[in-house]
Amino acid sequence: MQPIDRSSPVDIAIVGAGAAGLATGIFAARRDPSLRIVALDGAAKLGAKILISGGGRCNVTNRIISADDYCGGNVHLVRRILAALPVEATITFFREIGVSLHEEEYGKLFPDTNRARTVLDALLGEARRLGIEIRCGRRVTAIERCNEGFRLSVGGEALAAQKVVLATGGLSYPKTGSDGTGYQLASSLGHTLTPTTPALAPLILDGDFHTALSGIAHEVELTIRPAEGKAVRIRGPMLWTHFGISGPAALDASRHWHRAGLEQGGVSMSASFLPGESFETAEAGLVAKAGAQPRALLHTVLSTMLPARVATAMLKQLRISERVQMAHLTRDDRRRLVRGLLEWPMPIMDSRGYAHAEVTAGGVPLTEVNAATMESRVCPGLYLVGEILDVEGRLGGFNFQWAWCTGFVAAGGLTRPG
Ligand SMILES: Cc1cc2nc3c(=O)[nH]c(=O)nc-3n(C[C@H](O)[C@H](O)[C@H](O)COP(=O)(O)OP(=O)(O)OC[C@H]3O[C@@H](n4cnc5c(N)ncnc54)[C@H](O)[C@@H]3O)c2cc1C
Repeated sequence: MQPIDRSSPVDIAIVGAGAAGLATGIFAARRDPSLRIVALDGAAKLGAKILISGGGRCNVTNRIISADDYCGGNVHLVRRILAALPVEATITFFREIGVSLHEEEYGKLFPDTNRARTVLDALLGEARRLGIEIRCGRRVTAIERCNEGFRLSVGGEALAAQKVVLATGGLSYPKTGSDGTGYQLASSLGHTLTPTTPALAPLILDGDFHTALSGIAHEVELTIRPAEGKAVRIRGPMLWTHFGISGPAALDASRHWHRAGLEQGGVSMSASFLPGESFETAEAGLVAKAGAQPRALLHTVLSTMLPARVATAMLKQLRISERVQMAHLTRDDRRRLVRGLLEWPMPIMDSRGYAHAEVTAGGVPLTEVNAATMESRVCPGLYLVGEILDVEGRLGGFNFQWAWCTGFVAAGGLTRPG
């Protein structure tokens, strides 16, 4: 383990050298190369979360980013922070450090190498080029105010720093190092915490409807209905699994399911297997098909609209014969089928929790930092960036963009004169 040089004072101590911590250090050092910046990370190896991100390819950002892609924080503050580092500037930054990006479906931007390692190595290389002292295996267990600014307890040793950046992430994938201690550090310095829940997590279903469908992916629209308030609709691909559902639509739905359960005390969810269709259009479609192909089997017709195995499972559950000819489908059964196609109950028991959640919802309220600098409003000299804040993005590169943007804004705050 590399020692920490204590012979000269630390201007900035960054707690957590993940995406947000590295971005903060790099942008601050670029603005003022004379600063002594130390980044401390509790993990034995750096960047575990970057390496597993995007299926090992790291979805660095998205072609189109807006405040609407985020939940949690006040939308005006989120918009202001996002505006500081537009996507074009993010692309330029990565090109400067040797990572060219290409666009894939849904506007997702990945490194041309298709390797997350390229992104991590480029960030670490740039940080080292700028003289940032990165120390892994250095867990910060306490931070106190003192005359010099702050005193950090790092594995039994003390480190004094004028300014501190909390970039510890949330609770998701704790194996990577983000185990929630950052929240304790923030609250010990006066911050409040919005209760946390997993987000972007696969969902566990009750019953056994899903088990026969494991491995099938198709387009759906999920509707999450809180006990009170507006329903949330999410459209996209969904993957049936042995435990329930995953894939983009399910992952994006998980935060709404958890938050509704936490904040509204109750929630239900259903799926439309014909996204964009209403009861009237879906029923008219089936009537038209019966007119055009009266002798076609119901299952054959349904299999042109959704995966055949899903059609089989649905008809079995609804107790409608697969082999009924379209002309003989009763009005009652047709209407039950349409209701099923549009509002299939999804009896969610839970998500798979933080161990499988890509991000954490909740955390330090955004209103407790100055959105022009990311400096704490309750503890001057403390800055908060990345996932520790009560802001999370949907799937598609939005969470890394939040890390880059908050790091960029904090760098401006950390290096401002006076
Ligand atoms: C499987 C998976 C895939 C993902 N894929 C994508 C994707 O493709 N695109 C995207 O935009 N987002 C993705 N995300 C989300 C994204 O990785 C996070 O939003 C982002 O990494 C958050 O950055 P952060 O720096 O705030 O926190 P983290 O990346 O969690 O980094 C926090 C760091 O702080 C350290 N730390 C914590 N506590 C302490 C302490 N007390 N002392 C010292 N160090 C500490 C940890 O060891 C860790 O290195 C994915 C997440 C997961 C889990």
